[in-house]
Amino acid sequence: MPENNKDYKAKNAWLEMEDIEKDQIFNFNKEYGNFLESNKTEREITKGSIDLLKEEGFKPIKQFESLKEGDKVFAVNKGRQLVAAVVGKKDLKEGLKIVAAHMDSPRIDLKPNPLFEDGELAYLGTHYYGGIKKFQWVTIPLALHGVVIKEDGSKIEIKIGDKKGDPVFYISDILPHLGKKQREKKMNEGINAQHLNLVIGSIPTKDQNQEDDKVKYAVLNYLEEEYNISGEDFVSADLQIVPADGVRDVGFDRALLGGYGHDDRVCSYTGLRALLDINQPEYTAVTVLVDKEEIGSMGATGMQSRFFENFVAEMTDKYYDQYSELDLRKILENSSSLSGDVNAAYDPNFSEVFDKRNTAYINKGIVLTKYTGARGKAGSSEASAEFIGKVRSLLNKAGVIWQVAEIGKVDEGGGGTIAQFLANYNMDVLDAGPAVLAMHSPFEVVGKIDVYNTYLAYLTFLEK
Ligand code: MN
Ligand code: MN
Repeated sequence: MPENNKDYKAKNAWLEMEDIEKDQIFNFNKEYGNFLESNKTEREITKGSIDLLKEEGFKPIKQFESLKEGDKVFAVNKGRQLVAAVVGKKDLKEGLKIVAAHMDSPRIDLKPNPLFEDGELAYLGTHYYGGIKKFQWVTIPLALHGVVIKEDGSKIEIKIGDKKGDPVFYISDILPHLGKKQREKKMNEGINAQHLNLVIGSIPTKDQNQEDDKVKYAVLNYLEEEYNISGEDFVSADLQIVPADGVRDVGFDRALLGGYGHDDRVCSYTGLRALLDINQPEYTAVTVLVDKEEIGSMGATGMQSRFFENFVAEMTDKYYDQYSELDLRKILENSSSLSGDVNAAYDPNFSEVFDKRNTAYINKGIVLTKYTGARGKAGSSEASAEFIGKVRSLLNKAGVIWQVAEIGKVDEGGGGTIAQFLANYNMDVLDAGPAVLAMHSPFEVVGKIDVYNTYLAYLTFLEK
């Protein structure tokens, strides 16, 4: 083989990185783990991110009359979407460098009229959000997070189940002794959506006027007294059921990090951190964090919303004395982006669904995913050879460890990301993020060295 023929081979990052970097990698993951553990909903991630942005001197874009090189700005959309930017050296018309990721994770939401009593137990009825395997969410401690909007417009924030001493909530499963028929069912029927009712109380009220549903009314009284929440208030609430457990190191060597919501907070955090740590970037660097990816990027706070575009319009307006609609279109068109999202890690327990030569591995660095989709790439925006060439060269020069993969064997299934919605602006987009074991489960696992290389990749991309 000629000397300059460099074959592709994903490398174990632990063998590639200097020993001295291990502390740095573990410390970085400690901070990420703390962020993940204390922010479990898109609203909480948004709040946590705003705190970090303010610490680093970022200010709301509305506070600026004009923008120039070095300015650090951000904007928040309805508490569930965030765009932040550092104005670059080059003219804005040269385009933006964007890292975009989603903050929402699969979970269980409440029904609009959730409260009921059965068997003298009080329950909240639920409607799951995103692609969950329902049987993974029973018999584990669950927390309740979200907001309730009162009739007068005031907001009550709920976060119960994570602090030591907090109660948790619970979805039961049938005991094995009576589970003969359940065992014979298909896995996705053994626990179905109708089984996902959350136990929230069991002491009945002694109120003589209350003949039925004594437990339900005791819970209503409790909610009123403790939280100022009435039964009707559930109608205007975003309440989410998330795993109560925290983040833990996994394995004797502590190289893996387990927790809820790596998909896609691992890219949200590293994308944000990269922007916070950036030195004066060449191009204007932008981190976009969105909601609703898990249900199709719909709605005002999803990637399909006009919010991101409006933010770029506001930047353009404040950057130039005069600009045209065409200038704005060109800025978007000349931009390029990494769509930060996770890919499936090779799992030896289920090797049959992976193509070993084209799958992502834990500890082999950030995964570049040329295309997503299913059934012959349907639904994928697919990155061009030219753009991947640029990213590959950039990462190699910076010594960032990367691998390439698609999600599973061809025709085994598939998935999508927000990449296609960025591509609609006619900008270059490539999916890039770490590999995850047991994606969409209540306790997902990533490799710490992959989290760190994802951060390095985003930082390099945004800065250069
Ligand atoms: Mn994702
Ligand atoms: Mn997902």
